[in-house]
Amino acid sequence: MKASKPAATFAPQEVRRFISPLTIATLVILTGLIMEAVSRRPAPNLPLAFYGGLGIAYIATVHILLLRSAFRHGTYRVINSVLAGIGIGILTYLLSERLNEITHILVLFSVVVMTMISGRMYAYLTLFLIMAVSLPAELSQLRTAEGILDYTTPFVVSVIVAEVIIRIKNTAHQHIHRLEIINQVSREIMQTLDTKQTFALLDKTIQDTLGADTYFIGIVKDGKIQLELFFDDGEYFNGMRVPFEGTLSGWVIRNQKVLFLPDLREEVELDGVERFIIGRDRTSLSWIGVPLKAENVTGVLALASYAANAFDRADLELLISLGQHVTLALDNTIRHAQVERQARLDSMTGVYNHGYFLKLLAEQAEEASRTQTPLSLIMLDIDYFKQYNDTYGHLVGDRILNSLCSAIQRNIKQADAVGRWGGEEFIISLPGATGRQAHRIARRIGETMRSLRVEDRDNRTVPIPTVSQGIAVYPDEANEIYRLIDVADKRLYVAKERGRNQVEPGEEFFQE
Ligand code: GH3
Ligand code: MG
Ligand code: MG
Repeated sequence: MKASKPAATFAPQEVRRFISPLTIATLVILTGLIMEAVSRRPAPNLPLAFYGGLGIAYIATVHILLLRSAFRHGTYRVINSVLAGIGIGILTYLLSERLNEITHILVLFSVVVMTMISGRMYAYLTLFLIMAVSLPAELSQLRTAEGILDYTTPFVVSVIVAEVIIRIKNTAHQHIHRLEIINQVSREIMQTLDTKQTFALLDKTIQDTLGADTYFIGIVKDGKIQLELFFDDGEYFNGMRVPFEGTLSGWVIRNQKVLFLPDLREEVELDGVERFIIGRDRTSLSWIGVPLKAENVTGVLALASYAANAFDRADLELLISLGQHVTLALDNTIRHAQVERQARLDSMTGVYNHGYFLKLLAEQAEEASRTQTPLSLIMLDIDYFKQYNDTYGHLVGDRILNSLCSAIQRNIKQADAVGRWGGEEFIISLPGATGRQAHRIARRIGETMRSLRVEDRDNRTVPIPTVSQGIAVYPDEANEIYRLIDVADKRLYVAKERGRNQVEPGEEFFQE
């Protein structure tokens, strides 16, 4: 006979905790039996004493095997069941009816131990063998109802006890299995910075462990709850939005409390919650929701079932734990994106920094080549800014830099980019713009700049410095970005030389 699934082997500590008490009790009973057999009058019952000794040796051996976790193999379990079954069955012949109770106790002990170490099948095999072997000796007893009851009671009790143990074992195994899954998920979820993958992992975990009719994760976005993952009755409704007001989810998020509703047919009094059907038009009868909260994430993770009392405390604990892992992962992803964004920006003005602008410009130039469209570049520098700083102070100078950046941003499109090239020098890329269009934009930036109002520390309006700008067009004037920058820089220098506060456009401008 082959074991269908690997038997749970016990750690020595588990054997000591769960099996040893029964082993010791059995040894005590067998020792008592031997003493009774030896002291029997008029003559000691030597065969019984010998049999008791055999029993002690057998139980001690099994115990040692268990302590060494040698009980993995199916054959051991079969031999053990057969020996125990036949052994206890034969005892019926050796014991006087007066000592029947001892047999009963040993039947119970053997079934309990067999259930714990080998499982249901072996426990019942033992029980069956005890019955089969002992039956001929007991036949005479089975003529009265009382006799039948006396004979069958230990077997019935053993079956009940075995079934209880199996249920406890299954529950424990389920808990361990869930812990394993949670560990696995937490490892995987922490490795990803992809929100889609996080939701996919959550989806799979809930399917594997909880298997609810309905589950969803809702993240607060623009005052609504966006259901990033929403499974209901075999279908996905991802991306749906539900309001805060009137919903159970809204209640969980508002109150930051777990909501465990085992039976929704019962009246639930929740502040501001009405019955609210989303997904399939079927009413859930049980509902659990746990709040999700981290620095950048607020939301809810919920399970529902069309059956009442579908969830227990273990499900709730699992959901809480899953929720915590998912929240951390989502928060991590957002934080990572924030750090990445910060690393691209100039900390004072918020426009792209030198390094990132270059990277972006290279991409834009490549795209321009591919699509055979122009790409214009503006180099901009504030006039006499050193002097300006000396006159109005560095703080005002900083305000001017920030105002200049917003003036630039007001005049360019989404696809355009602005970077801080150096102290008070900025660079603007305009994909798709011709030299003429770039010239117009540059002049508008100058105009916007002139219309600015900046105040000093004492709220006095200060004059605005002028700017000089140089323009170059890709690929006509330079087909490589560093050369393009060079051309724009040279034209900026020309504008400065000619007296500042002006734009030096490209050749295209003069040709027309
Ligand atoms: P021009 O460009 O017209 O030739 O004269 P300029 O005085 O602007 O020329 P220069 O490049 O020599 O001076 C740049 C000045 O910009 C030096 C510095 O005081 C100022 N500056 C650079 N970065 C900052 C900054 O972050 N904040 C402030 N307030 N000033 C800055
Ligand atoms: Mg300058
Ligand atoms: Mg400068």
